[in-house]
Amino acid sequence: MGRRVLFLGPPGAGKGTQATLLARALGVPHISTGVMLREAVAEGTDLGNQAGVLMAAGDLVPDELVVAMVAERLSRSDAACGFLLDGFPRNIEQADALDNSVDGHAIEVVLLLTVVEDELVRRLLKRAVEDGRDDDNEDTIRRRLEVYRSETEPLVEHYPLHGVPIRRIDGLGTVEEVFARVVMALAHE
Ligand code: ADP
Repeated sequence: MGRRVLFLGPPGAGKGTQATLLARALGVPHISTGVMLREAVAEGTDLGNQAGVLMAAGDLVPDELVVAMVAERLSRSDAACGFLLDGFPRNIEQADALDNSVDGHAIEVVLLLTVVEDELVRRLLKRAVEDGRDDDNEDTIRRRLEVYRSETEPLVEHYPLHGVPIRRIDGLGTVEEVFARVVMALAHE
C-alpha cells in the first residue's frame, strides 16, 4: 500500500477531512500547506505576513515560499516512512520542485476527490458561516476555483504521464461513505 500519498481536488471537496482520517489510519503525518500557512498567518511570522494577503484574495502563495516550507517539513523524521500531502503540490512547478529537491519523497499514488462545482460552492459558503475562514467568501471562493482549474487541475494529467497512478474518488456522500471509498482506492495500491 502506498504510504506517500497526495490528495488532490478542488477547494471544498473535503480533502482536509479525508486526509486527517487517512493519515491517522496509515500512521503517517498529514501535511497540509493550507493549515501550515494559516498557522504562520496567525503567528505573524515573515512567511505569514507575506502569505496572508494572497490567501485572503484566493491567490496562490509564491512557489519558493511554499516549497521551502514543505521541504523543511518533509525532512523531519516522522515523514521518513510516509506522508499524506494535502494542498501541495498545487501547480506543475511545485510538483517538479518536489520531485527534484526532496530525495526519497516521490509520490506513490494520487487520490483525486471529485465534487461538482455547485456543491463545492455550497459547502464553502456553509464553512464560511461555521468556521469564519477569511478566504471563504463568495468572491474569493470563485477565485480559488478558477485557480484550481488553471493551476492545479493539470496535475491530474501530469502524474499519470510520470508513472504515478491516480485514483478518482467520488466526494459526494457522508464523511464515512467517502472515507470507505478512499480506503478501497488505496487497497489496490
Ligand atoms: P482550499 O483547498 O480550501 O483552497 P487550503 O487550505 O488548501 O484551502 O489553502 C488555502 C490557501 O492557502 C490557498 O488559497 C492559497 O492561497 C494558500 N496555499 C495553500 N497551499 C498552497 C500551495 N501549495 N501553493 C501556494 N499557495 C498555497
